[in-house]
Amino acid sequence: MTIIQDSEMFINTENAYGLRSIGDLRRVRWIFRLFQYQAIMQLLIRLTRFLIRVGFPIGWLIRPVVFKQFCGGESLHESLKVIRHLNAAGVKSIPDFSAEGNATDNAFHRVKEEVLQTIRLASKESSVIYAVFKPTGLASFDLWEKLSSGVVLLPDEANQKAKLEEYLEEIFTNASANDVPVLVDAEESWIQPAIDQYIRIFSEKYNRDKVLVYNTVQMYRTDRLDFIRRELERAVSRGYRLGYKIVRGAYHEKEQLRARDMDYPSPVFSRKEDTDEAYNAAITYCFEHNEWIALCAATHNEQSTLLLAKLMLEHREEIKLPVTFAQLFGMSDHLTFNLAAAGFTAAKYLPYGPVREVLPYLIRRAEENRSVTGETGRELRYIRMELTRRRVKEKSRNR
Ligand SMILES: Cc1cc2nc3c(=O)[nH]c(=O)nc-3n(C[C@H](O)[C@H](O)[C@H](O)COP(=O)(O)OP(=O)(O)OC[C@H]3O[C@@H](n4cnc5c(N)ncnc54)[C@H](O)[C@@H]3O)c2cc1C
Repeated sequence: MTIIQDSEMFINTENAYGLRSIGDLRRVRWIFRLFQYQAIMQLLIRLTRFLIRVGFPIGWLIRPVVFKQFCGGESLHESLKVIRHLNAAGVKSIPDFSAEGNATDNAFHRVKEEVLQTIRLASKESSVIYAVFKPTGLASFDLWEKLSSGVVLLPDEANQKAKLEEYLEEIFTNASANDVPVLVDAEESWIQPAIDQYIRIFSEKYNRDKVLVYNTVQMYRTDRLDFIRRELERAVSRGYRLGYKIVRGAYHEKEQLRARDMDYPSPVFSRKEDTDEAYNAAITYCFEHNEWIALCAATHNEQSTLLLAKLMLEHREEIKLPVTFAQLFGMSDHLTFNLAAAGFTAAKYLPYGPVREVLPYLIRRAEENRSVTGETGRELRYIRMELTRRRVKEKSRNR
């Protein structure tokens, strides 16, 4: 690991975009620029949703533009090319089957199979460092909600619960047999209690010598620092370890709206600064207890990334369990590639799946990237800087 002074380390656009051709960079610049025009984006998103509803084939339009930017391919096999490409720059991959919207038994079975396939791939390709799944990929939202609220299940729901437990057991047994850690994504707060409970059980079972089961903690939630502290106490007293992917949280507006509509106190901070503070406190706490907690800092935030990188450099001798960084494929390359170049373990969440089925994921990315300020604006500036750098280099070569 090299010395880091400050966020200057992320300005090295040559590292950040080394794998991208000029054509690629122009396409990315075009996409991020388009994202800034909120009215046009709203219109495009509405049009896309309408075309999907009426069954119009739009894959040919989406594939070369946004799909290529944010996804690895239509299958895990197809994503291998991107996985190896990233690996050439020292960047690891976290393939994520991102087909959404199908809450059927077949769809849950398919997600489980994809996770097992990723585990098999990771056991052979060392650049694939985690498998990952969303809890609602394995069972319906309704079931998770009922499990979380503790209501008595109907016979059919009890069968679904048995199936879910069978899938979880199969995934974690395979993870353990192949020595591949698995990240479990976090979703809405009202389905999280059941997810936390299952992860507690599987962590106690499989996180003995190493960490294979990772929960995700959303730091926009006001109760999560206490949650981590309590879970650590439990783990220490019972002699198992914890794995945490720390995120800020993706459902902020939804959480606030539900709390307002149903008249209960909002479970999330209302000020961004409070989330930032909690996020930084959580990564610091996990890092300070690295003997017990393996950490994946999943963020596009430069300040949080820098904070953890500095902590790692100051205490590099004391690091016991894995500490990794993760960003989404197609976003914040300046963080991922510069971290990797400096010797940190940095990975990309690499969504994949049939174009039509990953559209909800792509629409969320478009919505998230609408702001011209903050991280997205900064990324656009870096892309422009890299294009200018290459133009200048080309000119001086031709002189
Ligand atoms: C690899 C990876 C995996 C992820 N996995 C998950 C997951 O499993 N579950 C999940 O929920 N999300 C997940 N996310 C998304 C994540 O939670 C954030 O939504 C996203 O990364 C933006 O936050 P940031 O830390 O990157 O950066 P920033 O741009 O600094 O933060 C934006 C975030 O701040 C918070 N925020 C914004 N406004 C306010 C406000 N007024 N008050 C309080 N807080 C506010 C929100 O959480 C918002 O998303 C993941 C992200 C990455 C990169």
